[in-house]
Amino acid sequence: MPRPPAAPSSGHRGHRTNWLRAAVLGANDGIVSTAGLVLGVVASGAGATAILTAGIAGLVAGALSMAAGEYVSVSSQRDVERADLELERRELEVDPAGELAELTAIYERRGLPTRLAQEVAVTLSEDDALAAHVRDELGIEDDRRARPLQAAISSAVAFSAGALLPLLAAELAPVSARTAAIVVVSLAALVLLGAAGARLGGAPRTPAALRVLGWGSAAMAITYGIGALVGTAV
Ligand SMILES: [Zn+2]
Repeated sequence: MPRPPAAPSSGHRGHRTNWLRAAVLGANDGIVSTAGLVLGVVASGAGATAILTAGIAGLVAGALSMAAGEYVSVSSQRDVERADLELERRELEVDPAGELAELTAIYERRGLPTRLAQEVAVTLSEDDALAAHVRDELGIEDDRRARPLQAAISSAVAFSAGALLPLLAAELAPVSARTAAIVVVSLAALVLLGAAGARLGGAPRTPAALRVLGWGSAAMAITYGIGALVGTAV
């Protein structure tokens, strides 16, 4: 049986998302924005109630905003995946022979000899051709499909978990050590998260940790400065 020429690639755009990485970024956001917010309020000379209120409002607003943003962005990824799937379904209907050749070529490129690649492609196509194409051509794996609601919830939870750290530091520390507690707890958490995030992404850990340390310190110093200015002006 002569092998038909491989069909040209149909220009699919598969998207992959690493939720663990998204969670690290969400927690990072929660720490930086809440620490900045709480420090700004502390620097203004506000009392415990105002600090707590601002911190909780910041946590809730940030978590909701993360959830909304994530939901919108992952929904459009899901739309792309759905369009890819639909395109694949139509191609299989219109040109099953061409699609079989395409699948064979994919297995050949992965190192199987022609005969075996054909055999694998035929067997998998008899079983569930669409599933084989979706997995091996589009690279969409079922456990990595875009799930907007899951993404929204996990980033909101990650943001809240991060935001709780400076908030708890502000609440639990004695008044005289409040600023120091927020800064130390937040920077320590940022460094740990930065290292963890770099590890997940396969990047060196020290530069990543130093980077978040730099940005985190700058954010806190700036909001603290603004809070102090507003506190003396008002
Ligand atoms: Zn295909």
